[in-house]
Amino acid sequence: MLKQDYMQVSPDQPINSEAPLQLLLFVDGRPQSRQQVQQIRAYLQGLSAEYSFELQIIDVGQQPYLAEHFKLVATPALVKIHPEPQQTLAGSNIIAQLKSWWPRWQAATEAFLNLQENLKDISDQDEYVVRPDSTIHSVAVSAELIKLADEIFDLKQEKEKLKEQLQFKDRVIAMLAHDLRNPLTAAAIAIETLQNNFDVENGKFEILKPKMAEHLLKQARAQTKIIDRMVADLLQVGRGNDTNLPIVPQKLELNKLSLEVLAELRDRCIAKSQKIETDIPNDLPLVYADPERIRQVLINLLDNAIKYTPNGGVISLSALHRTTQKVQFSIGDNGPGIPPENRDRIFENHYRLERDEGKDGYGIGLSLCQRIIRAHYGQIWVDSNPTGGSWFHFTLPVYPS
Ligand code: ADP
Repeated sequence: MLKQDYMQVSPDQPINSEAPLQLLLFVDGRPQSRQQVQQIRAYLQGLSAEYSFELQIIDVGQQPYLAEHFKLVATPALVKIHPEPQQTLAGSNIIAQLKSWWPRWQAATEAFLNLQENLKDISDQDEYVVRPDSTIHSVAVSAELIKLADEIFDLKQEKEKLKEQLQFKDRVIAMLAHDLRNPLTAAAIAIETLQNNFDVENGKFEILKPKMAEHLLKQARAQTKIIDRMVADLLQVGRGNDTNLPIVPQKLELNKLSLEVLAELRDRCIAKSQKIETDIPNDLPLVYADPERIRQVLINLLDNAIKYTPNGGVISLSALHRTTQKVQFSIGDNGPGIPPENRDRIFENHYRLERDEGKDGYGIGLSLCQRIIRAHYGQIWVDSNPTGGSWFHFTLPVYPS
């Protein structure tokens, strides 16, 4: 009896595994092996005329787990799975190997059948009959088990990852929601002050000097921009997929942008009596970058400088045209600095120095900066002195003239 087909070996499709000699022929879809497979099949067909055996043909492309189960390294391969011991013939001369093994396989099958007969005679009971435990069906079951175990392992890992992501999201969303209150209150106070002083009939502010009214308007606008950025961060965290970072580069005046960002944060520096020093050449070339993303980088770096530098400290902004193709921008402070062993790690997602755990933050600012700068094909790094002070530098491509 010769069964030749590409039917899937699967435990829910039990196949007839009565024949004591059971073989599996593993094939692949490569055109190069087609001829060899045809020859092996024809040879087996010839053998089946003299001796009954069961043959299952398995396409490794469809049943990779079975190939894994038999630790196959090449196809085609012919595996004798019963009677035991299991044996694999592979390589370019399977037919030659089969010729030499065939008589021994037949002998082993006969021995198995005799043993079964003897046991049956002794006990005269069916349950004492030795049942083959490595039939095609049982092999399919164990291969399916390997596959399921692998899938369970993958699912468990996926679950852990999702759990971690969810916890992180919850934490970030709670913190961002909390942080949103500051700019929201500042904007609301500015708007309320303007509104309370506005005389509708005259169309003028009653007590407020025009300069003060302008300051309040600017303040309200700056705070809404901060809110906007935070909401964008929230949405990004919500999306959870932080691998894609859309960049829309354009011609950008870095000195103008940095002064705008500085103006937005000036009140915070004033509140901490921090001095700001700038050294940005007027002829700094234009860069090729996404303004919104670079704004995020500048805000994050300046925000850190203000946050980690004590009251009365000095924060500096400087830029230089490093090469014909690159502009380097630096934000320095005279705060506590970064120990040498942490200078790379602070750019990792969620990483914070133990020293700063008491301060607000969630360790994503610098990793976001790094992703943004790298997406612009630039570099970002930090220098620090043993006596303190940090200098965060980043480079951006010059806009081609
Ligand atoms: P966060 O500030 O939210 O903790 P960041 O990714 O922006 O996250 O920074 C990571 C860590 O690097 C901070 O927790 C802090 O320990 C350290 N750090 C960043 N900037 C400075 C700085 N200017 N001075 C000292 N330490 C800093």
